[in-house]
Amino acid sequence: MSEIFTGNFTQQEPIPEDAIEAAVAVLRSGRLHRYNVAPGEAGEVALLEQEFAQMVGASFCLAVASGGYALATALRALGVKPGDRVLTNAFTLAPVPGSIASVGAVPVFVGVSEALVIDLDDLEAKADQADVLMLSHMRGHLCDMDRLLEICQSHNIQVVEDCAHTMGAKWKDRWSGRDGVIGCYSTQTYKHMNSGEGGLFVTDDPEIMARAVMLSGSYMLFDKHLAAPDPSVFADIKYQTPNISGRMDHLRAAILRPQLRDLNTQCARWNERYVTMEEGLRNTAGLTVIARPVEETYVGSSLQFLLLDWPADKVQDVVKRCAARGVELKWFGGAEPVGFTSRYDSWRYAPSEPMPSSDRVLKGIIDIRLPLTFSLEDCALIARIIKDEVSRVYQS
Ligand SMILES: *Cc1c(COP(=O)(O)O)cnc(C)c1O
Repeated sequence: MSEIFTGNFTQQEPIPEDAIEAAVAVLRSGRLHRYNVAPGEAGEVALLEQEFAQMVGASFCLAVASGGYALATALRALGVKPGDRVLTNAFTLAPVPGSIASVGAVPVFVGVSEALVIDLDDLEAKADQADVLMLSHMRGHLCDMDRLLEICQSHNIQVVEDCAHTMGAKWKDRWSGRDGVIGCYSTQTYKHMNSGEGGLFVTDDPEIMARAVMLSGSYMLFDKHLAAPDPSVFADIKYQTPNISGRMDHLRAAILRPQLRDLNTQCARWNERYVTMEEGLRNTAGLTVIARPVEETYVGSSLQFLLLDWPADKVQDVVKRCAARGVELKWFGGAEPVGFTSRYDSWRYAPSEPMPSSDRVLKGIIDIRLPLTFSLEDCALIARIIKDEVSRVYQS
């Protein structure tokens, strides 16, 4: 008899009780807007910004409405203009090229390697085409950040890091989001902290942060921030920067602050699940487990493997067979984008050249969510089912 998994791949854990209590207190106060604070009160949003900046060792932090908003704000704060070209990953999620398009700029796609990170040789080859790289640490895989910084420094490229999947991760001893001039994070439900929607933006550059604060819709209330530069930095910037409202509110910040205190614990729980599943998938003929570099401290909130050089119909067969046993796999290689899976050639508003070596990788990527509601036994069972079905189709 073949085993079946009955769990839910999109079920998050409940919001922790202390976060619920903090949220209820905000609701009772009626003061949900970030600048609506009682005398002497800092407000949940300003405190979240201060605490997140402290955690990653950033001079400044701004909480915003979404991760995608943080990315677009980063481009605006760097002065990216309509028609400018911005380097970015061919393998990422739609909000990344979307943020580039939202400022009228044009993405220049850089390929993906078999390690599922940006192809640094391709980056080097395209480095003269733009002054900004929007680097997406897609699905939590970090490239060799030292080599990436070398390439970007030698070509005067400013790096914006998309850390939607690397909040809590590190390259060597550096928090993800701190190697670029700006780091952007998402607190949307499927990321590492859950406020439904939300984003965080960090930098050490006072002028960039002053522009970001003004852009986010601070009116002239920037002195209420606890993780923003001195008001003197705003002297000209406050007249020169448009308000493109995208603030975070106290309710979301109240939910996030207790989760931030638990982040390390949650990351460790993700990694137990990741390692359990990865172990279960090893030594499956035809299936390539993604090797993780020793310099990388990852957060295994999802797992990918490759069915490299498999014909499309066989990959589809694996996806179908696993689904029949309750295991939801996402495939990045389908002709049509489905659900969250799209890739550079799905974004037809942005021109792209064919990238054969990236296409080969993309056609083989299988993606699995690992919500913390899965037990370790669930992860082992899911791996057994995948191993079983991959082996069966591979041998057929
Ligand atoms: C979720 C996500 C974003 C954007 O986050 P939102 O908060 O949903 O706007 C950006 N990049 C990647 C890779 C993501 O997965």
